[in-house]
Amino acid sequence: MPRLSISNGSSLMELRTGKHSSLESLLSLMKIYSLRFNASPMVISPLSFQLIPFQSFSLGTSAGERKLMPTIHEEMDRRQLLYSLLMPVMNLYVPGLDKGKGLYFLFVKAETKTPGGLLARPVLTSYYNSDHFKTRPYDPFNVYTSPNEAILCVDSFQSMYAQMLCGLIMRNEVLRVGAVFASGLLRAIHFLQNNWKQLAHDIATGTLNPKITDAPVRECMRKILKPNPELAQFVTMECYEENWECIIKRIWPRTKYLDVIVTGAMAQYIPTLEYYSGGLPMACTMYASSECYFGLNLNPMCKPSEVTYTIMPNMAYFEFLPRESSTSCLVDLADVEVGKEYELILTTYAGLCRYRVGDILRVTGFHNAAPQFRFIRRKNVLLSIESDKTDEAELQNAIENASLLLKEFNTSVVEYTSYADTKQIPGHYVIYWELLVKDSANAPTDDVLNRCCLQIEEPLNSVYRQSRVADNSTGPLEIRVVENGTFEELMDYAISRGASINQYEVPRCVSFTPIMELLNSRVVSKHFSPDLPHWTPERRR
Ligand code: AMP
Repeated sequence: MPRLSISNGSSLMELRTGKHSSLESLLSLMKIYSLRFNASPMVISPLSFQLIPFQSFSLGTSAGERKLMPTIHEEMDRRQLLYSLLMPVMNLYVPGLDKGKGLYFLFVKAETKTPGGLLARPVLTSYYNSDHFKTRPYDPFNVYTSPNEAILCVDSFQSMYAQMLCGLIMRNEVLRVGAVFASGLLRAIHFLQNNWKQLAHDIATGTLNPKITDAPVRECMRKILKPNPELAQFVTMECYEENWECIIKRIWPRTKYLDVIVTGAMAQYIPTLEYYSGGLPMACTMYASSECYFGLNLNPMCKPSEVTYTIMPNMAYFEFLPRESSTSCLVDLADVEVGKEYELILTTYAGLCRYRVGDILRVTGFHNAAPQFRFIRRKNVLLSIESDKTDEAELQNAIENASLLLKEFNTSVVEYTSYADTKQIPGHYVIYWELLVKDSANAPTDDVLNRCCLQIEEPLNSVYRQSRVADNSTGPLEIRVVENGTFEELMDYAISRGASINQYEVPRCVSFTPIMELLNSRVVSKHFSPDLPHWTPERRR
């Protein structure tokens, strides 16, 4: 066991009392021993000063590549505390939520081990596998249609199938429909579009699709699934229609709201969710990450554009790096100022690890003395469909990688920009390319440009590739070749709107409708990745 000596007890007391000045020195003082994933990692519990072995690692996506973050068992209690506040808050705004069920599409992912043998898995996988979730006491406000067996099945098709089937069977009891992120709920709708015939067949006959082979799922579905031809006919009638507008309200008529995060990168899904739900309110209840859960929305039925999160000071030690300041002095949670933007920094109880999460927040006001924050954006994220986060440098590198294929055709990429197309499910990255073909007799063929799509995907971060290969939550990358001169027109457009010629830079990601219209009207050919990029569950060293 590693030896540890702490010589300055007063600093520890200062941490307990939350004095900011001490944190810097304390962190360097309390060096975490053996924080090597192939040794026996230990952590000092800041409250009891005991040595506690790290029990597992959270796999986070915050930086594109998967990150390992040490965690301890006690951290789950803290997170549970935040979860337990969600329904009391919601109950203030939506009455009667104890009179029915929640249809939540919740999933786990396969876990891996560190070289030292510790478990590494996404934070929600840890939570759903914990006793806090699995053996939660009965609470009428938190009854789900999905059985634990379905949520805990690592095969995403089988898990989704069983959860959807239960949601259909219990359709008249459902009061809220949700997933963690908006993209997850849209995947569920897409799944229903693709699988309603089989689901209706199962409901009509009371037999389970033979593709569901997971024994615990089969066993629990055996108890739930009974022949119900009337319900099967209803599902067929609703889903057979081309028009899926309002489908959520049609199938689950008692739904009072959608429980999904639609702030930050998820805001792009609001119009599609409005279409499928017939304008149901969307509640963004909490703000969290793998590093730490941060806080909750105390006014959950507000419009998505007005959502603010109140950070719970007991979740971690929070610090804030001002965005527009020449100094890099950190500000305490108690000292942030209304209207200012900050980058969030936190130090966890699980190991006194200090993280720059990469989120930019703006202070909008206070709840009593607790500051409230609007999520502004993630730092350096250009493209995101689901949990993937691709930054400008990565995209540039990927484009350069693909351009190599064009060399033998004496062709180069003059300009490019990108767009996260989430109109279809799954969403996909679109890259607009303006090419300079020097020898038109030897221009790159359709096949070459398809392969360029794959060459762009290969060097992208592992979270992107995982979402393509394992999760199927992102579709094949698309290149749209545009006419020569298109990017000059783009510049003319920007200048006509007041941009300075001197300072004009091609936007590397676009979403503004007039610009999209301009680009799309100049497309000469479209190409898609012909294959899946390479991905394995192991982390890159
Ligand atoms: P991960 O570390 O993979 O769990 O991703 C956590 C990140 O997801 C956060 O740092 C945010 O960027 C984003 N996120 C989580 N909750 C919210 C929310 N309520 N609104 C906007 N973005 C969020």
